[in-house]
Amino acid sequence: MLNIKYELTKEKKAKPDENNLGFGIYYTDHMFIIEHTEGIGWHDARIVPYQPLTLDPAAMVFHYAMESFEGLKAYRLPDNSIQLFRPEKNAERMINTNKRMCLPSLSVEDFVQAVKAIVETDKDWVPHNDGTSLYIRPFVIATEPHLGVRTSKHHKFIIICSPVGAYYSTGINPVKIFVEDEYTRACPGGTGFTKCGGNYAASLVSQVKAHDLGYEQTLWLDGVEHKYVEEVGSMNCFFKIDGVVYTAPCVGTVLPGVTRMSCIELIKKWGYEVSEERLPITKVMEASKEGKLEEVFGTGTAAVISPVGELRYEDEVAYINDGKIGELTQKLYDTLTGIQWGKIPDDMGWTTKVCD
Ligand SMILES: *Cc1c(COP(=O)(O)O)cnc(C)c1O
Repeated sequence: MLNIKYELTKEKKAKPDENNLGFGIYYTDHMFIIEHTEGIGWHDARIVPYQPLTLDPAAMVFHYAMESFEGLKAYRLPDNSIQLFRPEKNAERMINTNKRMCLPSLSVEDFVQAVKAIVETDKDWVPHNDGTSLYIRPFVIATEPHLGVRTSKHHKFIIICSPVGAYYSTGINPVKIFVEDEYTRACPGGTGFTKCGGNYAASLVSQVKAHDLGYEQTLWLDGVEHKYVEEVGSMNCFFKIDGVVYTAPCVGTVLPGVTRMSCIELIKKWGYEVSEERLPITKVMEASKEGKLEEVFGTGTAAVISPVGELRYEDEVAYINDGKIGELTQKLYDTLTGIQWGKIPDDMGWTTKVCD
């Protein structure tokens, strides 16, 4: 159990217009901080007014990307209570990330306690409109001033929160995806399975390239042969081919998404075959030509489910389901969002109440 001290703001900010929240633009009144010092462990848990950090310019996070993060959401239910979706899965994943990155971790219990505490403090910021939510961003940074490369003796774990709009405010439009065959996101033995800023810094070059070619996101192939499909931008990716649902195995180069895990559980429950065998991009393109590529979708906390309407690989383009959302994609979207916003009963036991 963390002993959290509260220093509440004297000047609450004006709330933004719930119809125009966007993603990651507005921040709530408070933030959670706890310090980690080598030899002492975690100390000084507190909730303070949202404010800039003061760090030494030699702080190790600035030089060697010694950072990790998580992403989850709080949802407002029809009865105005607030809940989280599988927050202990984010806590467990952050522990796995931090082991790889030599960063300290909170226990699962302390992580969930901290998330609940900041959401409850800023509960008025959990928006009400359909499809809106409070995005929660926990992160760890190495703050010791030191230019030699080694692990840091001092870290901060911080949680900030941002009210975010309905991802599909203009309806669910399938995205156009560019299959990246030049750059690599992750390699065996690397950091692909971690949520660390460095992975994203190294991926932007492909995002820019995809945008320049008129595509919205990049589909990454494996880093060794550039042959097997792995992930789409910040989402896991699923392919329904001839009745079977494929998604890349989480064996070190793929981020183990909470949404991915939840989709696999639902798809199996509904009686489909799910394959986590490696899937060659050539098999996807062939299936498309034979009319067997039934559905493609990305999964992640921000969008929940994002249907893919078009895939470009080298000089070939696969058009999926006439640019419309597929039947399974729609069912997953309705079920997951139904459970998250409390519109259908949570018979999977996935949600945790923050406050009534
Ligand atoms: C966060 C993330 C995902 C999605 O994970 P969720 O837990 O479902 O939000 C997928 N891929 C990458 C690279 C990510 O960083």
